[in-house]
Amino acid sequence: MSFTTLGLSEPLQKAVKEQGYTEPTPIQKQAIPVIIQKKDVLAAAQTGTGKTAGFTLPLLERLAQTEPHMKKQQIRALVLTPTRELAAQVAQSVKLYGKYTPYKSTMIFGGVGINPQLASIRKGVDIVIATPGRLLDIAGQKGIDFSALEVLILDEADRMLDMGFIHDIKKLMKMMPQKKQTLLFSATFSPEIKKLASGLLNHPKTIEVARQNTTAEQISQVVHYVDKHRKKELLSQLIKTKKWEQVLVFTRTKHGANKLTKQLEESGITAAAIHGNKSQGARTKALANFKEGKTRVLVATDIAARGIDIDQLPHVVNYELPNVPEDYVHRIGRTGRAGQSGEAVSLVCVDEHKLLFDIEKLIKSEINKVHIPAFTPDPNIKAEPIQNGRGGGRGKNTKRQGNSGTSHNNSNAGRNSRNRNRNANRSGRDK
Ligand code: AMP
Repeated sequence: MSFTTLGLSEPLQKAVKEQGYTEPTPIQKQAIPVIIQKKDVLAAAQTGTGKTAGFTLPLLERLAQTEPHMKKQQIRALVLTPTRELAAQVAQSVKLYGKYTPYKSTMIFGGVGINPQLASIRKGVDIVIATPGRLLDIAGQKGIDFSALEVLILDEADRMLDMGFIHDIKKLMKMMPQKKQTLLFSATFSPEIKKLASGLLNHPKTIEVARQNTTAEQISQVVHYVDKHRKKELLSQLIKTKKWEQVLVFTRTKHGANKLTKQLEESGITAAAIHGNKSQGARTKALANFKEGKTRVLVATDIAARGIDIDQLPHVVNYELPNVPEDYVHRIGRTGRAGQSGEAVSLVCVDEHKLLFDIEKLIKSEINKVHIPAFTPDPNIKAEPIQNGRGGGRGKNTKRQGNSGTSHNNSNAGRNSRNRNRNANRSGRDK
């Protein structure tokens, strides 16, 4: 099957061709015709499956089907994303695939001045790509008009729920017309997502594609047990002795990312941190340097890493295991892409044994444990509760962590954490 048979018009086919895509991916094959037919869609697809083109191309096609007379501040399509990185990636796709179409788009996200964003909407745009918090602020100031909205897309809806955006999304939905096409993309179909979908979607077509690289065979996974205070030493040693040249390292908190970056630099390894406290410019630069090989290690938090487009990473290191087992799958999915082999190494201390157990349960397999004699853990060190760091815990994490017995949080703490996090994200201070 080619892009020609999917119902895309000439300007879109031309843009796709320029990208060098010869064949649609499975999600594109399924989603494009259904979206063009104006049906609601519930799609389970992760980053790396081609999902962005899977909704952007038919969205652009859909807009070509009608010719509305737009009033000032009215928009025709809205894509909601959990982070500004993802918003930027979607916006880039809209520009790329819409190169030969007349549609205008703009991005809305927190952490930067609101006035240029208000001005760009006033100038007139067809498509807005936004994070929920800032969009709600703009809508509250009557800076945007949803009355002519034709298509609403929720991208990485599971992430948006995790990050506590549900209330913002519901408030936004109330401002939108009932009659519109809604598309919901999510990495998982959790009960929470199904509940959200049942409230938002109208007889949706469900699309589920095989998760790419879900702990796929081409990714070799290894666990090294090591004491917490010796992790940095082990990581430096692994990078140097194994001559890793491009490594993505995950930490749980922004503070942890900064600290580790400093320590790696001190041991003579070029490193940069990428997280929500960094300015957009700093993040873009860090990513560019990493891609060009100027920086050997990129240290990232889970949320900051989502949506960053780095293909075929050879090495991913879990310096700290994620609190949510699904994040492990997302993290290691960054390596071994497109048939390349990859390696995912997890440094696990005594505090994290329960997290490791939960991950192995989720992926339904035991990860190979490789003992490094010089780093044998001290049996006298007892497990301690895992600290999430300042403003670091997402509500859901905190709750699950509580279940895992590694934390003393109660549901109230979870709720507070959720609220705190939402506020943090609203002001652009996402992880
Ligand atoms: P996504 O899942 O949307 O993050 O896309 C992952 C990557 O796949 C992006 O770098 C796209 O440029 C690329 N991509 C999307 N569609 C295709 C296709 N049909 N053929 C080859 N690459 C694609």
